[in-house]
Amino acid sequence: MRFLPVFLDLQIGPVLVVGAGELVQAKLRLLAAAGARIRWFATDGHHDVGGLATADAARVELAEGDPLTADLAGVVAILCAGAGEIGIAMAARARAAGLPVNVMDDLSHSTFIFPAIVDRGDVVVAVGTGGASPVVARRVRERIEAALPARIGDLAGFIGRWRKHFHGRIASMPLRRRFWERVVDGRIGALVLAGRTTEADAALQQIDDPGTFAAALASGEAEGRVTLVGAGPGDPDLLTIKALRALQDADVVFYDELVSPEILDRARRDAARVPVGRRAGKPGIGQDAINRLLVEAAKSGQRAVRLKGGDPFVFGRGGEEVEALRAAGIAYSVVPGITAGLGAAAQFEVPLTFRHEALRITFLTAHKASDAETVDWSTLTDGKMTVVVYMGMTAAPSVRAGLLAAGRSPQTPVGVFARASLPDAQAAVGTLDQLPALLEQIDGGPAILIIGDVVAHSAPWRDSNLAQLVSYFQVAAE
Ligand code: SAH
Repeated sequence: MRFLPVFLDLQIGPVLVVGAGELVQAKLRLLAAAGARIRWFATDGHHDVGGLATADAARVELAEGDPLTADLAGVVAILCAGAGEIGIAMAARARAAGLPVNVMDDLSHSTFIFPAIVDRGDVVVAVGTGGASPVVARRVRERIEAALPARIGDLAGFIGRWRKHFHGRIASMPLRRRFWERVVDGRIGALVLAGRTTEADAALQQIDDPGTFAAALASGEAEGRVTLVGAGPGDPDLLTIKALRALQDADVVFYDELVSPEILDRARRDAARVPVGRRAGKPGIGQDAINRLLVEAAKSGQRAVRLKGGDPFVFGRGGEEVEALRAAGIAYSVVPGITAGLGAAAQFEVPLTFRHEALRITFLTAHKASDAETVDWSTLTDGKMTVVVYMGMTAAPSVRAGLLAAGRSPQTPVGVFARASLPDAQAAVGTLDQLPALLEQIDGGPAILIIGDVVAHSAPWRDSNLAQLVSYFQVAAE
């Protein structure tokens, strides 16, 4: 993000406009709509405000003389459009004076740029692409236009009118936010969006009645809670809508080391972010400490999100956290996520079950070599079983030995899938016999192992191992 979107008050001083032509006309319209006072230097000598409504034209002061020597006192921003060399010289002047400047279609001389705008009264959405592609920005704007209720601006205005009134009565910030969320998401919000503002006012007035008001706040909503959220394997687009909603509602997010920055970015801007996982090989704060943090956050009235890679209940220790929360009497809920095994299977086209070939799936972990040794491999003899191994990188030799000892064929197809769903995802495929060596083809984890005939259907196998594929089926047929 090179340009930070901010909303500028243009009513406090004039905006200096330098240039001529249709481009300037368009910007004059935009600035006038924002209530700006405009001082316009027409570089072609013709001040033509014909395209503006009379009221807007009245905001434009037609300036004479050389803009390069004009007085800049009180000016809030400078805008150059179709001004050629004068625009570039003006940009240098603006920068020297510390004033924001935009030279149209000239990123290198601009210190601010114009976003694509959705304008719904009090609700304004700015969409930027850092100047890279106004067309993409416009497409995004179209989607937002389509998604927003027509009266969303009215809703903001409605709350704006009542805000002060209620803020005097609700001291706590989290409580206030929750109060307004209930208004926006509930019947009153719906009334405003339906254009029935008078009824909405009356309904809010009723909450103003102290008895009803206290009852509304005592409804339990005000208490803190914990949501265990599965973040999926890494790609933020694989978050569920519920996960996104929980992140947007969070006061604080406790996250694991596997959770990518792109996913954390989806949390509410003001939410506190607390890493609790292992970091760069260093041990984390430990499960007991995490449990305590969750309980404390909820007890202090916060809405905490416990964000975990994949699914919270698949090798995620979500079960222990839920037990601790239950013991402490904390309200909680669990939002499932796409577990790494499913993410890898989808990305690399490994059908985990396949008619006649794979009728069972086992998810297991072989965290350390010592854990791997405790796996009862004899339960994994079924050749029609797909085995998905989490945290299997260090344990790969034991996994191989265990499955071979259980009678699995050394020719059983195996896939090592690293950083599934992330931009640098990688796969290595081969046979069970080759397993430890396959790991060397991978540039680091996290990685998951999928073992079973179905791996022969995977995209990397099809792409790179055709000969092996043929020989595998020959062996299988024998
Ligand atoms: N709860 C998580 C698993 C946590 S255990 C889930 O449901 O996915 C951590 C292990 O998950 C890693 O050692 C690795 O085996 C696997 N893993 C997590 N993210 C992964 C990814 N993007 N690609 C491949 N494996 C991943």
